[in-house]
Amino acid sequence: MGSLLEVDDVTVVFGGHRALDGATLRAEAGAITGLIGPNGAGKSTLFDVICGLRNPAGGRVAIGGRDVTRFGPARRARHGLARTFQRLELFGGLSVRDNLLVAAELGPQRRRAEQVVAEIIDRLGLQHVADTSADELPTGTGRLVEVGRVVAARPSVVLLDEPAAGQDNTETERFGELLRALADEGTAVLLVEHDMGLVMNVCDEVYVLDLGRMIASGPPSVIRSNEAVLAAYLGDL
Ligand code: ADP
Ligand code: MG
Repeated sequence: MGSLLEVDDVTVVFGGHRALDGATLRAEAGAITGLIGPNGAGKSTLFDVICGLRNPAGGRVAIGGRDVTRFGPARRARHGLARTFQRLELFGGLSVRDNLLVAAELGPQRRRAEQVVAEIIDRLGLQHVADTSADELPTGTGRLVEVGRVVAARPSVVLLDEPAAGQDNTETERFGELLRALADEGTAVLLVEHDMGLVMNVCDEVYVLDLGRMIASGPPSVIRSNEAVLAAYLGDL
């Protein structure tokens, strides 16, 4: 049986510059997979390719064994793929609860949307801001709501692009727990994150991208001491 998300040999060229050069990765159901790398490494570009916002010059993307390389973003979403963006994408004029409701109503209707949303608000500790409009939230809280929205849609593969940026320690901790709960339900979670503490704590497997190439992959304990990784980060880990 293959992995839930398979990315094979993806290449993206921007005006002669290879933003991605043969990038390959796997994300398993029930696991949190980290994707790290210095700024400009190609992480967000790889997310764009996976979710269908950018056509690669070469390579393949498959979800649940199905080749989706030629599918547009909406069709991939119907195959269970959801993502957040590096910048916030909430409906500013809607309350936190309504932002979550919109997403829950888009997902498969196994239970009442209101009930799903109440659970997410509880799990993320958002009770005190449930009726606050999204554009009044501090950034870290906004990111939690965004992740809540992705969870509400019940996807099978989740891509999170720097979701912990602007979160305080309590928010990051809750966030780590939420990711684990999500994975425990069988979701494949792919996490791009600069907070190395969070990555090393919550990920089962970590891939390292540098200048468009995957330079290492493995469990956090192995990645932490990988020499090519240390060199790419100039000792930042
Ligand atoms: P990361 O998310 O790892 O910081 P990105 O995927 O945003 O990296 O960018 C990878 C490389 O591709 C960078 O050199 C960036 O300048 C370039 N790049 C990203 N998006 C575009 C674009 N739309 N047009 C041209 N170059 C781009
Ligand atoms: Mg990025």
